[in-house]
Amino acid sequence: MTLKYSTFPVQKITKSKLSSINFDNLKFGRDFSDHMLMAEYNDRAWKTPQIMPYQPLEFFPAASVFHYGQAIFEGLKAHKNEAGEVFIFRADENLKRLNASAVRMCMPEIPEDIFMDGLRQLIELDKDWIPVGAGMSLYLRPFMIADDPFLGVKPSGSYKFMIITSPSASYYSGAVKVKIESHYSRAAKGGVGAAKAAGNYAASLLPAKKAQEEGYDQLIWTDAKDHQFLEESGTMNLMLVKGKSLLTPPLDGKTILPGITRKSILQLAEEWGYEVVERPITVTKLVEGIEENTISELFGVGTAATIAPISVLGYEEKQLQLSDYTKWEFSSKVKQYLEELKTGKVKDTHNWIETL
Ligand SMILES: *Cc1c(COP(=O)(O)O)cnc(C)c1O
Repeated sequence: MTLKYSTFPVQKITKSKLSSINFDNLKFGRDFSDHMLMAEYNDRAWKTPQIMPYQPLEFFPAASVFHYGQAIFEGLKAHKNEAGEVFIFRADENLKRLNASAVRMCMPEIPEDIFMDGLRQLIELDKDWIPVGAGMSLYLRPFMIADDPFLGVKPSGSYKFMIITSPSASYYSGAVKVKIESHYSRAAKGGVGAAKAAGNYAASLLPAKKAQEEGYDQLIWTDAKDHQFLEESGTMNLMLVKGKSLLTPPLDGKTILPGITRKSILQLAEEWGYEVVERPITVTKLVEGIEENTISELFGVGTAATIAPISVLGYEEKQLQLSDYTKWEFSSKVKQYLEELKTGKVKDTHNWIETL
Protein backbone atom coordinates (compact mmCIF):
# COMPACT_ATOMS: atom_id res chain seq x y z
CA MET A 1 0.00 0.00 0.00
CA THR A 2 1.32 3.46 -0.83
CA LEU A 3 1.06 6.09 1.83
CA LYS A 4 -0.80 9.25 0.84
CA TYR A 5 0.82 11.41 3.48
CA SER A 6 4.11 12.47 5.00
CA THR A 7 5.85 9.97 7.22
CA PHE A 8 7.90 10.44 10.36
CA PRO A 9 10.96 8.51 11.57
CA VAL A 10 10.10 5.21 13.20
CA GLN A 11 11.96 3.26 15.83
CA LYS A 12 10.31 -0.15 15.74
CA ILE A 13 9.84 -2.53 18.65
CA THR A 14 12.06 -5.59 18.56
CA LYS A 15 9.38 -7.98 19.75
CA SER A 16 5.63 -7.34 19.52
CA LYS A 17 3.50 -7.72 22.66
CA LEU A 18 0.52 -8.61 20.50
CA SER A 19 0.60 -12.35 21.24
CA SER A 20 0.24 -11.66 24.99
CA ILE A 21 -3.09 -9.83 24.58
CA ASN A 22 -6.34 -11.70 25.01
CA PHE A 23 -8.62 -10.10 22.42
CA ASP A 24 -11.63 -11.94 23.86
CA ASN A 25 -11.29 -10.16 27.19
CA LEU A 26 -10.40 -6.56 26.43
CA LYS A 27 -11.12 -3.98 29.08
CA PHE A 28 -11.21 -0.30 28.19
CA GLY A 29 -7.83 1.42 28.38
CA ARG A 30 -5.76 -1.34 29.93
CA ASP A 31 -3.62 -2.68 27.06
CA PHE A 32 -1.54 -0.55 24.74
CA SER A 33 -0.24 -1.28 21.25
CA ASP A 34 3.45 -1.62 20.42
CA HIS A 35 4.14 1.94 19.30
CA MET A 36 3.42 5.54 20.26
CA LEU A 37 3.98 8.92 18.67
CA MET A 38 5.97 11.61 20.42
CA ALA A 39 6.50 15.21 19.35
CA GLU A 40 8.36 17.78 21.38
CA TYR A 41 7.89 21.52 21.49
CA ASN A 42 10.50 23.98 22.66
CA ASP A 43 12.04 27.28 21.55
CA ARG A 44 8.60 28.13 20.13
CA ALA A 45 8.55 25.29 17.61
CA TRP A 46 7.34 21.72 17.22
CA LYS A 47 10.18 19.33 16.39
CA THR A 48 9.82 16.40 13.97
CA PRO A 49 7.75 13.70 15.70
CA GLN A 50 9.08 10.21 16.25
CA ILE A 51 7.23 6.94 16.35
CA MET A 52 8.78 4.74 19.00
CA PRO A 53 8.03 1.72 21.18
CA TYR A 54 5.34 2.35 23.82
CA GLN A 55 7.45 3.01 26.88
CA PRO A 56 7.71 4.79 30.23
CA LEU A 57 8.93 8.40 30.11
CA GLU A 58 11.28 10.40 32.26
CA PHE A 59 10.31 13.79 33.70
CA PHE A 60 11.86 16.11 36.21
CA PRO A 61 9.79 16.29 39.41
CA ALA A 62 9.44 20.02 38.75
CA ALA A 63 7.79 19.42 35.33
CA SER A 64 4.99 21.95 35.24
CA VAL A 65 2.19 19.51 34.35
CA PHE A 66 2.54 17.94 37.83
CA HIS A 67 2.04 21.28 39.53
CA TYR A 68 -0.14 23.53 37.43
CA GLY A 69 -1.94 21.04 35.26
CA GLN A 70 -1.49 22.11 31.66
CA ALA A 71 -2.76 18.85 30.19
CA ILE A 72 -5.31 18.25 27.43
CA PHE A 73 -6.41 15.19 25.49
CA GLU A 74 -8.60 13.77 22.76
CA GLY A 75 -10.34 10.43 22.28
CA LEU A 76 -11.32 8.72 19.04
CA LYS A 77 -11.43 5.25 17.55
CA ALA A 78 -10.18 3.30 14.55
CA HIS A 79 -12.33 0.39 13.36
CA LYS A 80 -11.35 -2.51 11.11
CA ASN A 81 -13.68 -4.64 9.03
CA GLU A 82 -13.35 -8.33 8.11
CA ALA A 83 -11.59 -7.34 4.87
CA GLY A 84 -8.86 -5.54 6.85
CA GLU A 85 -9.86 -2.00 5.85
CA VAL A 86 -9.39 0.57 8.60
CA PHE A 87 -11.74 3.50 9.17
CA ILE A 88 -11.34 6.69 11.19
CA PHE A 89 -14.23 9.02 11.94
CA ARG A 90 -13.83 12.82 11.72
CA ALA A 91 -10.29 12.96 13.12
CA ASP A 92 -9.98 16.48 11.69
CA GLU A 93 -12.63 17.52 14.23
CA ASN A 94 -10.53 16.07 17.04
CA LEU A 95 -7.56 18.11 15.84
CA LYS A 96 -9.68 21.28 15.78
CA ARG A 97 -10.95 20.61 19.27
CA LEU A 98 -7.50 19.76 20.62
CA ASN A 99 -6.25 23.07 19.29
CA ALA A 100 -9.20 24.93 20.82
CA SER A 101 -8.37 23.24 24.15
CA ALA A 102 -4.70 24.21 23.67
CA VAL A 103 -5.59 27.88 23.17
CA ARG A 104 -7.72 27.92 26.35
CA MET A 105 -4.99 26.23 28.40
CA CYS A 106 -2.31 28.54 27.02
CA MET A 107 -0.55 25.70 25.20
CA PRO A 108 0.82 25.66 21.62
CA GLU A 109 -1.43 24.41 18.82
CA ILE A 110 -0.51 21.18 17.02
CA PRO A 111 0.23 21.41 13.29
CA GLU A 112 -2.15 19.40 11.14
CA ASP A 113 0.53 17.11 9.68
CA ILE A 114 1.84 16.05 13.09
CA PHE A 115 -1.64 15.16 14.29
CA MET A 116 -3.22 13.71 11.15
CA ASP A 117 -0.23 12.10 9.47
CA GLY A 118 1.15 10.93 12.79
CA LEU A 119 -2.17 9.30 13.59
CA ARG A 120 -2.39 7.62 10.18
CA GLN A 121 1.17 6.33 10.31
CA LEU A 122 0.79 5.01 13.85
CA ILE A 123 -2.47 3.22 13.02
CA GLU A 124 -0.95 1.75 9.87
CA LEU A 125 2.04 0.46 11.83
CA ASP A 126 -0.06 -1.11 14.61
CA LYS A 127 -2.91 -2.23 12.33
CA ASP A 128 -2.79 -5.76 13.74
CA TRP A 129 -3.80 -4.33 17.10
CA ILE A 130 -7.23 -3.25 15.85
CA PRO A 131 -9.73 -5.86 17.01
CA VAL A 132 -12.49 -6.84 14.57
CA GLY A 133 -16.06 -7.38 15.74
CA ALA A 134 -19.13 -5.66 17.14
CA GLY A 135 -18.21 -2.73 19.37
CA MET A 136 -14.47 -3.43 19.05
CA SER A 137 -11.96 -0.74 18.12
CA LEU A 138 -8.51 0.65 18.59
CA TYR A 139 -9.03 3.56 20.96
CA LEU A 140 -6.75 6.48 20.04
CA ARG A 141 -5.59 8.88 22.72
CA PRO A 142 -3.76 12.00 21.51
CA PHE A 143 -2.69 14.25 24.39
CA MET A 144 -0.37 17.11 25.31
CA ILE A 145 1.40 17.97 28.55
CA ALA A 146 3.67 20.80 29.74
CA ASP A 147 7.10 19.73 30.91
CA ASP A 148 9.19 22.76 31.81
CA PRO A 149 11.16 21.87 34.96
CA PHE A 150 10.24 25.18 36.58
CA LEU A 151 7.98 25.97 39.53
CA GLY A 152 7.12 29.55 38.64
CA VAL A 153 3.48 30.00 37.68
CA LYS A 154 3.53 30.77 33.98
CA PRO A 155 2.79 28.94 30.73
CA SER A 156 5.40 26.25 30.17
CA GLY A 157 7.93 26.80 27.39
CA SER A 158 8.18 23.12 26.51
CA TYR A 159 5.51 20.52 25.78
CA LYS A 160 5.14 16.93 24.66
CA PHE A 161 2.40 15.80 22.30
CA MET A 162 1.84 12.06 22.21
CA ILE A 163 -0.55 9.54 20.70
CA ILE A 164 -1.03 6.19 22.38
CA THR A 165 -3.48 3.53 21.21
CA SER A 166 -5.38 0.83 23.06
CA PRO A 167 -7.40 -2.11 21.71
CA SER A 168 -10.85 -1.95 23.29
CA ALA A 169 -14.19 -3.68 23.46
CA SER A 170 -17.33 -1.57 23.91
CA TYR A 171 -17.34 0.79 26.87
CA TYR A 172 -20.82 0.63 28.38
CA SER A 173 -23.64 -1.65 27.54
CA GLY A 174 -27.30 -1.33 28.33
CA ALA A 175 -28.96 1.65 29.96
CA VAL A 176 -27.57 3.82 32.76
CA LYS A 177 -29.02 5.18 35.98
CA VAL A 178 -28.18 8.84 36.40
CA LYS A 179 -28.62 11.42 39.13
CA ILE A 180 -29.14 15.14 38.66
CA GLU A 181 -26.22 16.80 40.42
CA SER A 182 -27.33 19.82 42.42
CA HIS A 183 -24.34 20.41 44.66
CA TYR A 184 -21.11 19.99 42.70
CA SER A 185 -20.37 21.60 39.31
CA ARG A 186 -18.32 20.50 36.33
CA ALA A 187 -17.85 23.88 34.70
CA ALA A 188 -18.66 27.53 35.30
CA LYS A 189 -19.04 30.41 32.84
CA GLY A 190 -15.60 31.71 31.98
CA GLY A 191 -13.95 28.47 33.10
CA VAL A 192 -12.50 25.55 31.12
CA GLY A 193 -15.60 23.39 30.60
CA ALA A 194 -15.37 23.60 26.81
CA ALA A 195 -11.76 22.36 26.84
CA LYS A 196 -10.93 18.66 27.02
CA ALA A 197 -8.63 19.41 29.93
CA ALA A 198 -7.37 16.72 32.30
CA GLY A 199 -8.34 18.82 35.33
CA ASN A 200 -12.03 18.70 34.40
CA TYR A 201 -11.85 14.95 34.83
CA ALA A 202 -10.00 15.19 38.15
CA ALA A 203 -12.71 17.51 39.46
CA SER A 204 -15.48 15.12 38.40
CA LEU A 205 -14.17 12.06 40.23
CA LEU A 206 -15.50 12.82 43.71
CA PRO A 207 -19.05 13.75 42.62
CA ALA A 208 -19.12 10.67 40.34
CA LYS A 209 -17.94 8.43 43.17
CA LYS A 210 -20.63 9.80 45.49
CA ALA A 211 -23.28 9.20 42.84
CA GLN A 212 -22.01 5.62 42.50
CA GLU A 213 -22.24 5.12 46.26
CA GLU A 214 -25.91 6.13 45.97
CA GLY A 215 -26.44 3.43 43.35
CA TYR A 216 -26.15 5.50 40.18
CA ASP A 217 -23.85 4.88 37.22
CA GLN A 218 -23.32 8.52 36.38
CA LEU A 219 -24.57 12.02 37.06
CA ILE A 220 -26.10 14.80 35.03
CA TRP A 221 -24.23 18.06 35.45
CA THR A 222 -26.24 21.24 35.83
CA ASP A 223 -25.20 24.91 35.63
CA ALA A 224 -22.77 26.03 38.32
CA LYS A 225 -24.83 29.06 39.30
CA ASP A 226 -28.23 27.65 40.33
CA HIS A 227 -28.23 23.99 39.23
CA GLN A 228 -31.38 24.76 37.24
CA PHE A 229 -30.20 23.99 33.71
CA LEU A 230 -28.99 20.71 32.26
CA GLU A 231 -25.46 20.53 30.89
CA GLU A 232 -23.91 17.10 30.28
CA SER A 233 -24.26 13.51 31.35
CA GLY A 234 -20.95 12.47 32.88
CA THR A 235 -18.44 12.61 30.05
CA MET A 236 -21.10 12.59 27.35
CA ASN A 237 -23.36 15.28 25.91
CA LEU A 238 -27.03 15.03 26.81
CA MET A 239 -29.97 14.81 24.40
CA LEU A 240 -33.67 14.13 24.61
CA VAL A 241 -36.47 13.42 22.17
CA LYS A 242 -39.85 15.09 22.58
CA GLY A 243 -42.36 14.41 19.80
CA LYS A 244 -40.51 15.00 16.53
CA SER A 245 -37.92 17.26 18.18
CA LEU A 246 -34.39 16.50 19.31
CA LEU A 247 -33.34 18.80 22.15
CA THR A 248 -29.90 19.46 23.62
CA PRO A 249 -28.37 22.26 25.70
CA PRO A 250 -26.51 24.91 23.64
CA LEU A 251 -22.73 25.40 23.55
CA ASP A 252 -22.70 29.21 23.72
CA GLY A 253 -22.10 29.40 27.47
CA LYS A 254 -18.79 27.51 26.93
CA THR A 255 -19.52 25.27 29.90
CA ILE A 256 -20.26 22.22 27.74
CA LEU A 257 -17.71 20.16 25.87
CA PRO A 258 -18.44 20.41 22.12
CA GLY A 259 -18.78 16.71 21.33
CA ILE A 260 -18.14 15.43 17.83
CA THR A 261 -20.81 12.78 18.35
CA ARG A 262 -23.19 15.57 19.42
CA LYS A 263 -22.42 17.61 16.32
CA SER A 264 -22.82 14.59 14.02
CA ILE A 265 -26.11 13.50 15.58
CA LEU A 266 -27.62 16.99 15.35
CA GLN A 267 -26.77 17.09 11.65
CA LEU A 268 -28.22 13.61 11.03
CA ALA A 269 -31.40 14.44 12.95
CA GLU A 270 -31.94 17.48 10.79
CA GLU A 271 -31.43 15.45 7.63
CA TRP A 272 -33.87 12.83 8.89
CA GLY A 273 -36.62 15.41 9.37
CA TYR A 274 -36.43 15.98 13.10
CA GLU A 275 -36.66 19.48 14.48
CA VAL A 276 -33.29 20.16 16.14
CA VAL A 277 -33.47 22.48 19.12
CA GLU A 278 -30.35 23.76 20.88
CA ARG A 279 -31.64 25.70 23.84
CA PRO A 280 -31.36 25.77 27.63
CA ILE A 281 -33.38 22.96 29.23
CA THR A 282 -34.39 23.23 32.87
CA VAL A 283 -34.31 20.36 35.33
CA THR A 284 -37.97 21.12 36.10
CA LYS A 285 -38.99 20.69 32.44
CA LEU A 286 -37.06 17.43 32.20
CA VAL A 287 -38.70 16.00 35.32
CA GLU A 288 -42.18 17.12 34.15
CA GLY A 289 -41.61 15.72 30.68
CA ILE A 290 -40.68 12.32 32.05
CA GLU A 291 -43.58 12.30 34.53
CA GLU A 292 -46.05 13.31 31.82
CA ASN A 293 -44.54 10.93 29.27
CA THR A 294 -43.88 13.68 26.71
CA ILE A 295 -40.15 12.98 26.72
CA SER A 296 -39.78 9.70 24.93
CA GLU A 297 -35.97 9.30 24.91
CA LEU A 298 -33.15 10.57 27.13
CA PHE A 299 -29.54 9.67 26.43
CA GLY A 300 -25.88 10.60 26.56
CA VAL A 301 -23.81 10.82 23.36
CA GLY A 302 -20.05 10.45 22.96
CA THR A 303 -17.29 8.49 21.26
CA ALA A 304 -17.01 5.89 24.02
CA ALA A 305 -20.50 4.39 23.78
CA THR A 306 -21.99 6.41 20.86
CA ILE A 307 -25.35 6.40 22.73
CA ALA A 308 -25.90 5.68 26.42
CA PRO A 309 -29.65 5.42 27.01
CA ILE A 310 -30.86 6.54 30.45
CA SER A 311 -33.26 4.22 32.27
CA VAL A 312 -33.54 5.93 35.65
CA LEU A 313 -33.26 9.59 36.59
CA GLY A 314 -32.73 10.51 40.23
CA TYR A 315 -33.71 14.00 41.34
CA GLU A 316 -33.98 15.02 44.99
CA GLU A 317 -36.11 12.27 46.58
CA LYS A 318 -37.57 11.11 43.29
CA GLN A 319 -36.50 8.24 41.08
CA LEU A 320 -38.09 8.51 37.66
CA GLN A 321 -38.25 5.58 35.30
CA LEU A 322 -37.86 5.99 31.54
CA SER A 323 -39.52 3.60 29.08
CA ASP A 324 -37.74 0.56 27.61
CA TYR A 325 -34.86 2.04 25.60
CA THR A 326 -34.75 -0.84 23.13
CA LYS A 327 -37.98 0.59 21.68
CA TRP A 328 -36.65 4.15 21.30
CA GLU A 329 -36.86 5.07 17.65
CA PHE A 330 -34.40 7.93 17.22
CA SER A 331 -31.54 6.87 19.47
CA SER A 332 -31.62 3.25 18.22
CA LYS A 333 -31.57 4.43 14.62
CA VAL A 334 -28.77 6.94 15.08
CA LYS A 335 -26.66 4.49 17.10
CA GLN A 336 -26.98 1.84 14.43
CA TYR A 337 -26.31 4.33 11.65
CA LEU A 338 -23.18 5.75 13.26
CA GLU A 339 -21.82 2.33 14.18
CA GLU A 340 -22.34 1.04 10.65
CA LEU A 341 -20.82 4.20 9.18
CA LYS A 342 -17.75 3.91 11.41
CA THR A 343 -17.18 0.31 10.34
CA GLY A 344 -17.62 1.05 6.63
CA LYS A 345 -20.98 -0.72 6.29
CA VAL A 346 -22.98 2.24 5.02
CA LYS A 347 -22.05 4.78 2.38
CA ASP A 348 -20.29 7.82 3.78
CA THR A 349 -22.34 10.65 2.29
CA HIS A 350 -20.90 13.33 4.61
CA ASN A 351 -17.20 12.75 4.04
CA TRP A 352 -16.77 11.86 7.71
CA ILE A 353 -14.79 8.67 7.19
CA GLU A 354 -11.21 8.18 6.16
CA THR A 355 -10.26 4.70 4.97
CA LEU A 356 -6.68 3.57 5.49
C1 LIG B 1 -15.07 13.97 25.21
C2 LIG B 1 -16.27 14.49 25.93
C3 LIG B 1 -17.56 14.44 25.37
C4 LIG B 1 -17.89 13.72 24.07
O1 LIG B 1 -17.21 14.16 22.95
P1 LIG B 1 -17.12 13.23 21.65
O2 LIG B 1 -16.29 14.03 20.72
O3 LIG B 1 -18.49 13.03 21.15
O4 LIG B 1 -16.48 11.95 22.08
C5 LIG B 1 -18.61 15.02 26.07
N1 LIG B 1 -18.41 15.58 27.26
C6 LIG B 1 -17.20 15.63 27.84
C7 LIG B 1 -17.06 16.28 29.18
C8 LIG B 1 -16.10 15.09 27.20
O5 LIG B 1 -14.90 15.14 27.80
